Amino acid sequence: ENGVSASESDGISSVIPGWFSEISQMWPGEAHSLKVEKILFQGKSDYQNVMVFQSSTYGKVLVLDGVIQLTERDECAYQEMITHLPLCSIPNPKKVLVIGGGDGGVLREVARHSSVEKIDICEIDKMVVDVSKEFFPRVAIGFEDPRVTLHVGDGVAFLKAVPEGTYDAVIVDSSDPIGPAQELFEKPFFASVAKALRPGGVVCTQAESIWLHMKIIEDIVTNCRQVFKGSVNYAWTTVPTYPSGVIGFMLCSTEGPPVDFKHPVNPVEVNGIDTPNNSLKFYNSEIHSAAFCLPSFAKKIIDSK
Ligand code: SAM
Repeated sequence: ENGVSASESDGISSVIPGWFSEISQMWPGEAHSLKVEKILFQGKSDYQNVMVFQSSTYGKVLVLDGVIQLTERDECAYQEMITHLPLCSIPNPKKVLVIGGGDGGVLREVARHSSVEKIDICEIDKMVVDVSKEFFPRVAIGFEDPRVTLHVGDGVAFLKAVPEGTYDAVIVDSSDPIGPAQELFEKPFFASVAKALRPGGVVCTQAESIWLHMKIIEDIVTNCRQVFKGSVNYAWTTVPTYPSGVIGFMLCSTEGPPVDFKHPVNPVEVNGIDTPNNSLKFYNSEIHSAAFCLPSFAKKIIDSK
């Protein structure tokens, strides 16, 4: 017995009793904590530890391998940005692929676009899908759209088998590059994304924090500049429960009709996806353009790649 209980490996703190602390080698020396009202689910899938708890201030929280994936309170910021940044940057997106995203939140956002005819999702871990359907119905509602087809499997293998030029947009809603998502941050993966996209198609990938992961971001930017011959951009937003409170996205397009990510050509204010009875909570066209403005320290490094 090494004294580490199943709970502790999920981040339930023995230091501050009754709190979850997000401890990881990816952000050494700091740990954001949330007060736990109740642990609702703890399980171990073939790929990772899965936990759901009721927090006292952010609603229910989904945790994979001790790392927060979403909370009911701030998931809108992440899901709306990772989806509408790419889909509002091209006219009439029709075929969309989501890699990861097993909670269904990105699907919910893609489904707002009436031009979209087909939505494929490839998530490696069926337990994430099942747990989301049970505990996060307002997120997992994305799976109910009839245009959605779920493929349970590795996104890397799935993309390799996709015929060239299939998708208008690919959204990579992955966890961090430790564990099953590691390859989703590597150059061969980006190359298969580029191949799966039509000319002038777009990709948006989860691209970590400018405060914590500049080295990872530098590598992603370098790889993407080699692979994507259209445009390559970094954008970011605020998500309070992600480490350092911010998260970034890599937005790239393939050679073809040019894509100017900074100026949405398919704005939500016009395309009718932001309706009074189903309104967006976070995304709008101003925040879209603003997301590409970088602090000087990050701009210097990203522009130099
Ligand atoms: N939507 C979340 C949010 O709001 O923060 C982001 C995290 S999402 C749950 C990340 C998903 O990527 C996880 O469900 C994980 O199982 C999945 N994943 C990790 N590696 C993968 C791979 N190689 N192929 C497909 N899915 C993968």
